[in-house]
Amino acid sequence: MHPLDQVLALPAFHDNYIWCWAAQGQLHVVDPGDAAPVRAHLEASGLSLGSILITHHHPDHVGGVAALRKLAPEAPVYGPAAGPFSDLSQPLREGDRIETGGAQFEILATPGHTLDHICYVHPNALFCGDTLFAAGCGRLFEGEPAQMQASLAKLAALPDSTPVYCAHEYTLANLRFAEAMHPEHAPTRERRVQVQAQRDKGAITLPSSIGLERKTNPFLRAGDPALQQALRAQGHRADDALSAFTSLRQAKDRF
Ligand SMILES: [Zn+2]
Repeated sequence: MHPLDQVLALPAFHDNYIWCWAAQGQLHVVDPGDAAPVRAHLEASGLSLGSILITHHHPDHVGGVAALRKLAPEAPVYGPAAGPFSDLSQPLREGDRIETGGAQFEILATPGHTLDHICYVHPNALFCGDTLFAAGCGRLFEGEPAQMQASLAKLAALPDSTPVYCAHEYTLANLRFAEAMHPEHAPTRERRVQVQAQRDKGAITLPSSIGLERKTNPFLRAGDPALQQALRAQGHRADDALSAFTSLRQAKDRF
C-alpha cells in the first residue's frame, strides 16, 4: 500500500485539519498551524517528525512550525518561495518536484486566496490548503478573481480520481451555499444531503475528489450555462465564466 493511501487528519483549532502520513517510521505533516496535535500524535505513535509541507503563510497553517522545528531541527520544511513566511529550508516554485515521505510531489503555484499559495500534487493526494475546498474555494484575501479561477483550473485538470485534502471542514456550509445558488442542480442537492448525514454523525467529509468537485463545486462550474442562468435569475452578473465566478465569490462572502 502506498503511504499516501493512509493520510490521517489531525483536527486543529475550530475547523482546520492538519493532514499527515507515516513512512518508514517518520511522520510528514501538512500545514501544522498548531504544534500541539502533531506533538501528541508523535508521542502516541512513536514516530519521529520527517518533514513539514506548507501551502501558504496564514497563521493557522504555519503557527506550529517554529515549535516543531525545535523538536526536529533536521526535518525539511517545504513552502512557497514567493511568500512572507521565511522559516523554510526548501523554498518551492511552480513546476518544482520534491520527494518526501515515500512520495514525489509536483508543485503548482495557485495564487488567489494568497499570492504565495502553492499546492502539492500526487496521484494519491492533492494537498491544496485554502485554494480548493470541498464544494468551495478560499476567500480572495490577496488575489483577483481571474487569478483564482486560473489556479482552480489547474487543479480541476488533475485526474478525477485525485483525492482532495483541503485544510478546513467547510463542506456542509459550502454545499448549502451551492444549493442556494443553483437549487435545481440535483448532484449538488444529493451531495448536500449526504454530507449533512455525515456531519450529523460528527464524521469528517474529506477527502473529496477532483471528479466530485468538477460535478458539484460551483466555483469549478462557473462556465456551466445552467448555473449562469440560475445566477442571473437571482440578479447576479453571470455573462461568462469569469463574471459568474466573481459573482459567486462575492455572494459567498456575504452568505
Ligand atoms: Zn488561508
